[in-house]
Amino acid sequence: MRSPFFLKGNIIDGRAFSQSILASVTENIKTLETPPKLAVIMVGNHGPSEIYVHHKQRVAKEVGIEAILHHVDENISQEKLDHLIDSLNKDTSVHGILLQLPLPPHLDRVRSINAISPLKDVDGLTSENQGLLFAKRPRIIPCTPLGCFYILRELIDLKGANVTIVGRSFLVGRPLAALLMNHDATVTLTHRFTENLKDHCKDSDVIISAVGRPGLIREDFVKEGAVVLDVGITRVETETVGDVDFAKVSPKCKAITPVPGGIGPMTIACLMENTLKAMALQTV
Ligand code: NAP
Repeated sequence: MRSPFFLKGNIIDGRAFSQSILASVTENIKTLETPPKLAVIMVGNHGPSEIYVHHKQRVAKEVGIEAILHHVDENISQEKLDHLIDSLNKDTSVHGILLQLPLPPHLDRVRSINAISPLKDVDGLTSENQGLLFAKRPRIIPCTPLGCFYILRELIDLKGANVTIVGRSFLVGRPLAALLMNHDATVTLTHRFTENLKDHCKDSDVIISAVGRPGLIREDFVKEGAVVLDVGITRVETETVGDVDFAKVSPKCKAITPVPGGIGPMTIACLMENTLKAMALQTV
């Protein structure tokens, strides 16, 4: 069997995979009378957020999505933020709303996310969209889990596969567990209180780590021939690294994502796809 186009040896080229998604999004947008419009809200000047937002704006432009940045003061009140989101919900020219996380501590993250209209919720993080995913009626699926799923379904038969997810956040671990369960994987969702993390991982056909702790997933955690997806992103001095000890783990894997160049580009491509989807949801 020919290996998938995004595999270079056993390394998953997330950039190459993301380009194929973006090419399809671009083609779809060319058929539309008006381009999708994405409102990006950034609160304050959180360094990494500025880089992520800049990157999302650049990719949006490349595919033909009009991305408008609403950069608001770090001290914005909850009421003012709610008001901004409400005005974007009511603006029929806006198809998607992205609230860049994290928010400053005085703002309520759950309340702010749930202020977004579920039909414009391109991150898929509102309780309504998360609930639909858990109810096996997915509408807009969170971007990082969706990117992981797109990779996995090309590499393995998810039906009955043993998958260990490390990290149970609302952004990654939980929706990813629901998505993979919906595709008949046997999912173990682990977190900081999980005992014997290594034993859970060692039995798994797939390990997905979304923690933000470099070196957490070691060579002895991984069985021969496993697929390993590394979602973690940590800046260590001038380098960006994941959760997996890539040098030692990669020789054992059937396939593995690097950091950078693995899940990150897939997440952004899925955001563009979700924006197009949100527009379609609003025009039916
Ligand atoms: P988060 O909300 O901080 O969640 C981290 C999770 O890891 C929590 O569930 C926590 O458990 C768990 N955890 C912490 N220490 C652990 C340990 N020793 N063993 C097992 N689990 C442990 O973070 P997040 O937003 O999900 O992001 C996770 C990482 O992925 C970060 O590095 C982030 O930068 C990265 N990320 C990357 C992308 C991408 O596109 N590549 C997208 C999103 C996030 P508790 O629940 O018990 O606290």
